[in-house]
Amino acid sequence: MRDRTTDIEDVCQRVLRNFDTEHEETAPDEPDHLHILVAYDLSPSATAAINQHQVLGFATEQGSVTSHTAILARSLGIPAVVGLRNALFNLHALDSCILDGYEGKLISNPTPETAARYRELEEGHQRRRAELDKLRDLKAITTDGHPIILSANIKSEEELDLVDRSGAEGVGLFRTEFFLLEKEECPDEEEQAALYSRVARRVEPSEVIFRTLDAGGDKLPGEPLSEPEPNPFLGWRGIRFSLDRKDLFKEQLRAILRAGSAGRVGLMFPLISGIGEVRQAKSLLAECVAELAARGVEFNQDIAVGAMIEVPSAAMIASDIASEVDFFSIGTNDLVQYTVAVDRVNPRVAKLYRSAHPGIVRLIKMVIDGASQHHIWTGVCGEMASDLILLPLLVGLGVDELSVGAPLAPLVKQAVRLLDFEECSTLANQCLQAAETKKIVQLCSKVATAAYPELIQEGSGGASAPSFAVHPS
Ligand code: PEP
Ligand code: MG
Repeated sequence: MRDRTTDIEDVCQRVLRNFDTEHEETAPDEPDHLHILVAYDLSPSATAAINQHQVLGFATEQGSVTSHTAILARSLGIPAVVGLRNALFNLHALDSCILDGYEGKLISNPTPETAARYRELEEGHQRRRAELDKLRDLKAITTDGHPIILSANIKSEEELDLVDRSGAEGVGLFRTEFFLLEKEECPDEEEQAALYSRVARRVEPSEVIFRTLDAGGDKLPGEPLSEPEPNPFLGWRGIRFSLDRKDLFKEQLRAILRAGSAGRVGLMFPLISGIGEVRQAKSLLAECVAELAARGVEFNQDIAVGAMIEVPSAAMIASDIASEVDFFSIGTNDLVQYTVAVDRVNPRVAKLYRSAHPGIVRLIKMVIDGASQHHIWTGVCGEMASDLILLPLLVGLGVDELSVGAPLAPLVKQAVRLLDFEECSTLANQCLQAAETKKIVQLCSKVATAAYPELIQEGSGGASAPSFAVHPS
């Protein structure tokens, strides 16, 4: 029953609305009718299934910036406002609305003046985006020559067009769970190998990093593989699930190894909390190498293997874990949730969810230091990577790669190109001394606003602000 709460609430709302005889609740079905979808909540899988030809954007009463629903909207380029309490109560189907993802507003029945003002704003945004698109083939490099690899986060093959258009250098995070869990049965090794190989071929000569199955958490409510748990984010998630379900895990590992012969492929393990998990996962990977060799199929045993750092315990022993892997990718969405103890999907505590918390800044520094001791690179693939206010801090701390929702890549690239690495390093040192989130945001805002004032507005809805708006384009 707990699992179905959203559905029941949704039905209740509809029943209540239907008592209201003044307003008929029929959604138009003409195929060319464009909608703004307003719902109590949307699951990540429902968001992934949104028909973008009909749905212009969506607003939900539940959710927060780092819920998977919001992350997916951002990476698909769908404007969205989440955590908009009581949005449904004052609305009627077929009301005309404006969805302002920059400011986090849903305006129903706008006056002609408001509509005209928004049309102007929209044209301005479109013009600026067109300018940014021209940077497609340029590198993300600071004014004093410090390079950053800028790659994209995706969850499906269909998003590769967006990646191409964005000018991102490859895929820094492929969330495989949406493909693996969308049906009753997990796709088998053949089906997975075919998909991963197609993606690897498309992304060549750049690299694609497949994250192994991260089941659990808020991903897919009612997903066939997991059972309801009292604390899903602390439960059977990520690598824990994979190490218990070796059958499924090894199928995926073999499929990724096989894709390694089609292009540049890396893999990374989610939710690592200690070195034992990395060693266990690697030993299963070695078994898969032996099995594929015995079968005589084509594969690449030298693909890069990384650990996602998204649990504080892993960040604290990063220098030990670094000796076992080829790279780190910091999953700040979870790292913040677990470090600050704030549920990433609960709008009630969303204002406490702050990526600029001094604890987070110091942990990221620890991870980067641990990585450099073993000469491996560190990326950031959580939403913090596309937060333009905190970007100078990440650059200054020495992050090598940033992986962001594809529609945000041009913005982040332009921002990096306007930053000075020396200045960012000084800023990072100041932030490492700071004891208050507010102070860190202040320091970062000063540098960011001086470097790219016009870009900040385009990229609003970042995780540094306690805002619930998500609007990528
Ligand atoms: C993260 O936690 O930052 C991350 C990238 O993984 P996900 O958002 O899928 O949990
Ligand atoms: Mg995560």
